[in-house]
Amino acid sequence: MRYRPAKQYGDKMDPKILADGLRQRLRKKGLVPEILKKISDPEIIESYVTCSHCGALFAGHKEINDAIAESNSVEEFLEIIFNEPKRHRHDPAML
Ligand SMILES: [Zn+2]
Repeated sequence: MRYRPAKQYGDKMDPKILADGLRQRLRKKGLVPEILKKISDPEIIESYVTCSHCGALFAGHKEINDAIAESNSVEEFLEIIFNEPKRHRHDPAML
């Protein structure tokens, strides 16, 4: 099942604002704006929390929605997702 931002979120950050912020980051990394426009908000958010190594999500859908609700900015969102102590890790031998 694809990730979908919850309809209800805190009064802090709208998933749309997060998705646009992530698009800006990807544009700075060299992704073409025309391609970025075609990627939906949930897809952008999901791609940011997907391990490029194995394709697993760093956080579950509920955690993603909670992180969106708790954060005031894109940076805060990424901090919550990636600073989670039990976050997704690989055996060093696999890297
Ligand atoms: Zn992985």
